[in-house]
Amino acid sequence: MIKITVIVDRYGDNEKYVLKRGLAVFIETKDNYILFDLGPDSESLQKNAEKIGIDLELLDGAVISHIHSSHIGGINALGWSSPFLKVLIPFDSMKSIGRIVKNNGLVPIEVLDWLNPWSQIYVTPPVYGPPWEHFLIIDTPKGLIVFSGCMHPGLRKTISVIKKRFRNKKIYALIGGLHLENALETYTENTLQELIKINPEKIIPLHCSGLSFIKRVKGVLGNKVLEAKIGTTIKL
Ligand SMILES: [Zn+2]
Ligand SMILES: [Zn+2]
Repeated sequence: MIKITVIVDRYGDNEKYVLKRGLAVFIETKDNYILFDLGPDSESLQKNAEKIGIDLELLDGAVISHIHSSHIGGINALGWSSPFLKVLIPFDSMKSIGRIVKNNGLVPIEVLDWLNPWSQIYVTPPVYGPPWEHFLIIDTPKGLIVFSGCMHPGLRKTISVIKKRFRNKKIYALIGGLHLENALETYTENTLQELIKINPEKIIPLHCSGLSFIKRVKGVLGNKVLEAKIGTTIKL
């Protein structure tokens, strides 16, 4: 079983958690604890993890999907909690993010091609948005679980890269940002149609997916769409 918990997002109980525009998701597989994206700052990552009861010291690694600030801000907190942790950083960011990661006592690894750094877990090569973005995939018997930071390259392009690598294996779940908050209607509609075609069994829109899109996709795909906020844990 795969367990995922939202640590940083804009939605959640504002008396309990630090709400920020950004993304950090804790992933628990049978063998590993992995952090997908680090949120916009150390405060939200550290405080929310603590309140939820997630021990960042236990992490086996972290993956930064792309260079936008709302996904990389927690590097400092990670340096404190998990020294020497392997942090997968985006293509062409060694001199920028890589340096910050190193200065915080962590170990940056630039992603250039497909990687399988932990059992069941894969990271895509850079897919161009702009900016370059990487997606985390968990290969399970039910199908692939795809984690998206912002989906800047678009759903069609991204899924085709993933399907090619995994020989058309079913996309079981899609989790994360879909960047549709301020998108044009045609782009939003295309994404919706693409999602219907991909037909994942679970869709968990977070971060920049946009509340109106979530409502719309729920209207079409019903209870396949799960709403999650800070502190929500979903078992897949
Ligand atoms: Zn972004
Ligand atoms: Zn976004």
